[in-house]
Amino acid sequence: MTDLLPGLEGHEAARRRLATALDRGRLPHALAFVGPTGVGKALAARALARALHCPERPGRGCGACRACRRIDAGHHAGVEWLTPEDGARSIPVETTRRVRNRALRAPLEGPAHVVIVDPAEALTLQSANALLKVLEEPPPGVHFILTCTSLRGLLPTIASRCVPIRFGALPADLVAAILDTQIPDLDPKTRAAALGLCAGRPGEAIRRARDPAVAAQVALFEAAARASAQGPAAVFSGDGGEVWQALSEAAKATKLKGAAGERAAALGLVDLWVLDVRRRCTGEGPLSAGNARRAAAALAVLMDARAALDANAQVRLAVEDLLLRMHEAAGCDAA
Ligand SMILES: [Zn+2]
Repeated sequence: MTDLLPGLEGHEAARRRLATALDRGRLPHALAFVGPTGVGKALAARALARALHCPERPGRGCGACRACRRIDAGHHAGVEWLTPEDGARSIPVETTRRVRNRALRAPLEGPAHVVIVDPAEALTLQSANALLKVLEEPPPGVHFILTCTSLRGLLPTIASRCVPIRFGALPADLVAAILDTQIPDLDPKTRAAALGLCAGRPGEAIRRARDPAVAAQVALFEAAARASAQGPAAVFSGDGGEVWQALSEAAKATKLKGAAGERAAALGLVDLWVLDVRRRCTGEGPLSAGNARRAAAALAVLMDARAALDANAQVRLAVEDLLLRMHEAAGCDAA
């Protein structure tokens, strides 16, 4: 499978479908790449654009020729990205019309003209309407690839004109390999947190690994685990206590204001703690009855904490309760 759309990892079913369509010369002119954020839809769109333009390995892409390299660098006139500008959430109609008008005169360079709308949820109503006609009857050689997390996020008139291709989560070992290639000398704790929290999405793992908030979250988890192991004296240590200082640092790192930052940091703490419990349960051999009971008790406490934080409980109170109950859960004995 490695020769199908090189540069794209995993997603075998999607790759096979696209490669078969390319081989038969029957690639739909409007595709919707549907899947969670960070799973690789934009990379797949770029790989498909290379396959359409590459003179060295037509229908596959070589990744090395001038056309492929220009597509990778975003400098190929035959591949246009319609994305929100820095900081904006939507794609303005003026930009959409400009891109549409070029598509109507295409191909301008190479054998095809590819327009990648990423993400298609960012199209305003006017932008979406500006694309309707060209999506339905594009000039020969023009291809549209719309990325989205769900077809329901698109206007029905847009969604109905696109053939959907699904992109799902990748296996954990593949995500780890992608992360290690992209960021080779990552601190092991940040790496574990990024991989544990990315839900099979390599782009999300990379984003988390580069996010300074993750390091602060890891520091908070370590302080919380220490305080919980020590028990009530450490939990009720006052504002100067290690865990409360770590909470305030992690809250700052989220860049959310006031209580929202603390709540996000506390929810991040719960996520990391769940990962830690899981990691302890996936060692060699089956769990002893005592360890299984302790793990179940810890997960119940963590689920309660998450529910309380989601339901707007006062953050500090919720964290105190979490630390004390985790202390108890850890002592819960095999008897
Ligand atoms: Zn090439």
